[in-house]
Amino acid sequence: IDFEHCGFPEALNHNLKKSGYEVPTPIQMQMIPVGLLGRDIVASADTGSGKTAAFLLPVIIRALPESKTPSAVILTPTRELAIQIERQAKELMSGLPRMRTVLLVGGLPLPPQLYRLRQHVKVIIATPGRLLDIIKQNAVELSGIKIVVVDEADTMLKMGFQQQVLDILENIPNDCQTILVSATIPASIEQLASQLLHNPVRIVT
Ligand code: AMP
Repeated sequence: IDFEHCGFPEALNHNLKKSGYEVPTPIQMQMIPVGLLGRDIVASADTGSGKTAAFLLPVIIRALPESKTPSAVILTPTRELAIQIERQAKELMSGLPRMRTVLLVGGLPLPPQLYRLRQHVKVIIATPGRLLDIIKQNAVELSGIKIVVVDEADTMLKMGFQQQVLDILENIPNDCQTILVSATIPASIEQLASQLLHNPVRIVT
């Protein structure tokens, strides 16, 4: 199995090759087909497993169709993680038409983020507090969101972001696909998953 058999657009295959992604990692082999089917997923995966591309590829495919409003939200606990995710997203999305990203993260000035948000972005990469602020200001259109990723969910809980994540999901269409990724799946994550996900596929690596 390799990425060439996934039926991705040519530019995406090119970007995968250019980034040195030839063979999918185990988490990618499990998550990408299920993610492309639109199913909700709860996955246990550590940093270094290739989990970022495992959720980015379904995000990119789901966000490709023409639309004026954002199609995907990726939530992650820290600014640093958000920056890393955006870097990988930009690498993979290079050359794909109208696939813009925006970083909505705390600790950086808000006005440039709001400006960028108005430039027809497709993929929002955010930390919970900043995205919730922007939602409360009515400055983001979430009615077209098709897929949400909650990355490093265990860290989210440790940092006290549970309620913020729930509040954000309240503002996103209920029928959207949700992918939850966590290093470990303790009872608290099971509970969050049961609140956020519909009939999820479980993936363990
Ligand atoms: P992550 O676990 O998402 O933090 O990814 C760890 C690193 O592995 C990142 O630097 C990725 O660019 C790289 N990577 C992810 N998937 C693959 C792959 N299929 N082949 C080679 N490198 C990969």
